[in-house]
Amino acid sequence: MMLRRAANIIWTNECPVCHKLLEWDELLCEDCSNKLDITDLKLCPICSKQTCLDHTALKFSRVYAQCLYEDSVVNAIYDLKNGLTLNLAEYAAAELCKQMKEDGTLRQIDIVTSVPMHFLKKQDKNINDADKMAKMFSRTLGKPCELKLLGKKRTGTAQHRLTAAERKLNAEKSFYILPKHKDITGKTLLLCDDVYTTGSTLNTCAGLLLEMGASEVICAVIATTRLEHERNKNTD
Ligand SMILES: [Zn+2]
Ligand SMILES: [Zn+2]
Repeated sequence: MMLRRAANIIWTNECPVCHKLLEWDELLCEDCSNKLDITDLKLCPICSKQTCLDHTALKFSRVYAQCLYEDSVVNAIYDLKNGLTLNLAEYAAAELCKQMKEDGTLRQIDIVTSVPMHFLKKQDKNINDADKMAKMFSRTLGKPCELKLLGKKRTGTAQHRLTAAERKLNAEKSFYILPKHKDITGKTLLLCDDVYTTGSTLNTCAGLLLEMGASEVICAVIATTRLEHERNKNTD
């Protein structure tokens, strides 16, 4: 099954959500791109949730999210994490860049970065989809990409197995500032990740970037859950 899907992806271009065949230059089929559109949901423009997170505790100024982490998107992100297809990440980057151009955020961004992954896990999976997102944003926005700002320790606990309070503690223990990092004083950073649930990971990383001197951190993710406590199956 896995092999057949991998072979399909090498030889053909298919929609990462419904697996319909696409033209070589398409990223998502039209039906799925309409279905994924979350503009009607009126999620909070700051925290991208239906029920807001505590805004006073947020270290980032806002989160841009392209779709909901629900239904077929869950599998599409699983495929993305396993390196089967990058279409969904590329699609999210292109669509979110359009939004950022329209609302003027694009002009503010100086550097694009990503939520780090432990280096062993990175080797395991051969990719870090947050890194790939960051590179796509960097290309689309025409802004430099800097991936050596933060590091991640191996805590042995996957975020998705924890409660919201435990996630916060675990995230705080997991990430650290890399020594000899590039000077980001006074810069506005765009921090990329694949899925956003409780916001603990983004908030911890944003906090560290501010500690390093960044003036503002804006986040971009492929998918958000409607509520902060919704279970996040494949991701940490
Ligand atoms: Zn589709
Ligand atoms: Zn909010």
